Amino acid sequence: MKINLLPEDDKTNGWSAILAPRQHRPALDKTIKADWLVIGAGFAGLAAARQLAINRPDDRIALLEAHEAAEGASGRNSGFAIDLPHNVGSSLEELEASKCYMGLARAAISHLEDMVTQHKIDCDWVRRGKYHAAASARGTSEVLEPFARELEAIGEPLTWMEKDELSNKLGSKHFDAAIYTPGCVLMNPAALTRGLAESLPGNIDLYEHSPVVDIDYTNGVTAQTPSGSVFAPKLIICVNGLADQFGFYRGRLLRFAAHASLTRPLNDAEQAVYGVDQDWGLTPANAFAGITMRYTPDKRILIRQNIHFQPSVRCTDAARKTIASEHKRLFDERFPMLPNVTMEHTWTGFICLSENGAPGFGKVAGNVWAATCQNAVGVTKGTISGMLAADMACGVDNPMIADMESLGSPSKVPPRPFLDVGVRAKFAWELFRNRHEA
Ligand SMILES: Cc1cc2nc3c(=O)[nH]c(=O)nc-3n(C[C@H](O)[C@H](O)[C@H](O)COP(=O)(O)OP(=O)(O)OC[C@H]3O[C@@H](n4cnc5c(N)ncnc54)[C@H](O)[C@@H]3O)c2cc1C
Repeated sequence: MKINLLPEDDKTNGWSAILAPRQHRPALDKTIKADWLVIGAGFAGLAAARQLAINRPDDRIALLEAHEAAEGASGRNSGFAIDLPHNVGSSLEELEASKCYMGLARAAISHLEDMVTQHKIDCDWVRRGKYHAAASARGTSEVLEPFARELEAIGEPLTWMEKDELSNKLGSKHFDAAIYTPGCVLMNPAALTRGLAESLPGNIDLYEHSPVVDIDYTNGVTAQTPSGSVFAPKLIICVNGLADQFGFYRGRLLRFAAHASLTRPLNDAEQAVYGVDQDWGLTPANAFAGITMRYTPDKRILIRQNIHFQPSVRCTDAARKTIASEHKRLFDERFPMLPNVTMEHTWTGFICLSENGAPGFGKVAGNVWAATCQNAVGVTKGTISGMLAADMACGVDNPMIADMESLGSPSKVPPRPFLDVGVRAKFAWELFRNRHEA
């Protein structure tokens, strides 16, 4: 089967641009055999390969990555490892589902924290917590107040913050109120992903710049790259929104582009005017209309805004330029005391959503398992689904596999072009309905 749509590295990732250059692993340039093949070296693929290596220390695992481990969405996100669902729900069933979700997310955070500590991964990992903020009174009453009640119902600690207190913490008067929760971790995601790739166990061979361009499922799996091939009896597929290219979850995966910018670091005079010392992270009451923001340990401000349906997984430089100007405008609106701070990097990443919010996880063929479709919270969901897919494939009795399966499977969406019209219309309505949060 020919793989018709490959990811593209547009070299715009700001998180890796601010790190020292990294020597990538060589591309596959011969025909090899392995006991396992993992495709995709984002959070899911790195976790899956590592867990296979732990479960089967005598097996050889080949990990193929189209570009470089830190250059896909896993190295381009906003750097929040989030332990809570965005909304809990209020029925008993929803509360149970939330507890199950939190158990999975926290297991992922604990695994990543172990890796950061054990391998001394220098990625600014800090359990800073986060502010879930509303920009309007309507957002506060419609989203934050019910969310606070739901968190209290499941015994989760939170601090309610009104405008003035919030303004002291964030250095911006833009927000009406926020819920602070302590469990979220902030980090540089490119540094974390690089560190995970560099510390893989010795029985994993990672090949970068090795896109799978053809795959054959006869008598095992044979994956062709431009200059080599891998044969393995078993496969774990970790390519997020491109799993349909490999024959799985066809007509169920929605690929969206998401954009973020990082300012240059504030200088001493600007820091004095800004008046905030500690780094922070903020998620918006409405994930699509609102803006995710961070103040990083190296004194930059991140703006994550603009998500749109983009099945082609491509974004033009011209479109990105327009988005960069909009990010600057939003920055100026929120931080008028910092008028000369420029956006140093603006980048695009691609996320995968399903219509019902369910992940593409589990056994998808006799010898193939999937850890895909992380619904935009892949730091934790990708990590745990990769680990659990490996446990499932090795027959390890892990009770969290049932928890993961209870999140469901991506539902079918209408075929294109009806899909494009429907998704764009639904999305436009969502943005319009929540414009008070923009
Ligand atoms: C701007 C932005 C902000 C975000 N913020 C957050 C956040 O703060 N917290 C959070 O949890 N999530 C966030 N996300 C989402 C998160 O980044 C993703 O959910 C997560 O990276 C998915 O991980 P993954 O391993 O499943 O997929 P990916 O990271 O997409 O990795 C899949 C890999 O498969 C490779 N691949 C694809 N096709 C092939 C092929 N044919 N051959 C070989 N390799 C292939 C790709 O190159 C890629 O490296 C954000 C995303 C974006 C873009």
